[in-house]
Amino acid sequence: MTLRELYSLSKKMLSGASDSPGTEALLVLSAVTGLTKERILLSFEEQIEDEFSKRVLDLVQLRHDGFPLQYITKKCHFYGLELCIEQGVFIPRIETEVLVDLVLELIEREKLKTIVDIGTGSGAIAVAVALNSNCEVYATDINEKALLLAQKNAQRLGAKINFLKGAFLEPVRPFIDKIDLIVSNPPYVSTNATLSKDVLEEPLDALFAGEDGLDFYRQFFKEISLLENKHVVMEFSPEQRDWMEKLSFFGKVSFFHDQFGKIRFFHLKIK
Ligand code: SAM
Ligand code: GLN
Repeated sequence: MTLRELYSLSKKMLSGASDSPGTEALLVLSAVTGLTKERILLSFEEQIEDEFSKRVLDLVQLRHDGFPLQYITKKCHFYGLELCIEQGVFIPRIETEVLVDLVLELIEREKLKTIVDIGTGSGAIAVAVALNSNCEVYATDINEKALLLAQKNAQRLGAKINFLKGAFLEPVRPFIDKIDLIVSNPPYVSTNATLSKDVLEEPLDALFAGEDGLDFYRQFFKEISLLENKHVVMEFSPEQRDWMEKLSFFGKVSFFHDQFGKIRFFHLKIK
């Protein structure tokens, strides 16, 4: 079989399962060969070994069955950065780029010096903030695999970040006084939600937070209630808005929309 034939077969297998079967087929080929898309196109007429085409077609089948493309290519894009990603770690979403914008605006306007990203996953938020500000950045997670990957992403991209393992505010409690801003995209999906097959391949403790999706929030705000004079910027699910309104008990709350017009973020300035 030629590379062209393998590409055509892969594309055909992915049509119906993907909106852009051609691009995805090329990305899988590129992940297996290590060649750029351009090089693959130039080598289209070359014959390839059966063992190689089998490896490609196995991955294409996985993708067809709903396995996320990013876990196959081991790459994802966030805030103009290419991050490494792997199964077992949450894949950053485009909505969260707006959360980064909100954080960067606050850092600039309020001259903030130290921030922490709680539940950093691949490190997406922490890395984007560290590379676009002069802040001292801390990042935490309960997931060891996520922390190792986030560390790798930070190193590759030259972002200086202090990584700490632990739940909620526990890892930063010893120096919480110096933290000006807490940012987080926590798990907020309801256990009753019907998620697509590819999302269910992601670590479930990164997504689900009890029946109403608020389990993380309830514990987090118990801990937050002891703090004074800090900024908190977080992502939530649009149907949780009424609950988020109650945060005005702690201070001034403002809400923000994502790129799709859905209410998705709040900024709380604790009194
Ligand atoms: N911040 C990343 C992003 O936006 O791509 C990952 C977000 S993912 C929705 C939530 C992350 O929070 C996961 O990496 C998960 O391991 C972590 N997490 C879940 N519960 C946590 C807790 N109690 N304390 C700290 N991190 C937690
Ligand atoms: N928006 C994510 C989804 O696709 C959930 C993100 C989260 O729980 N923080 O389900």
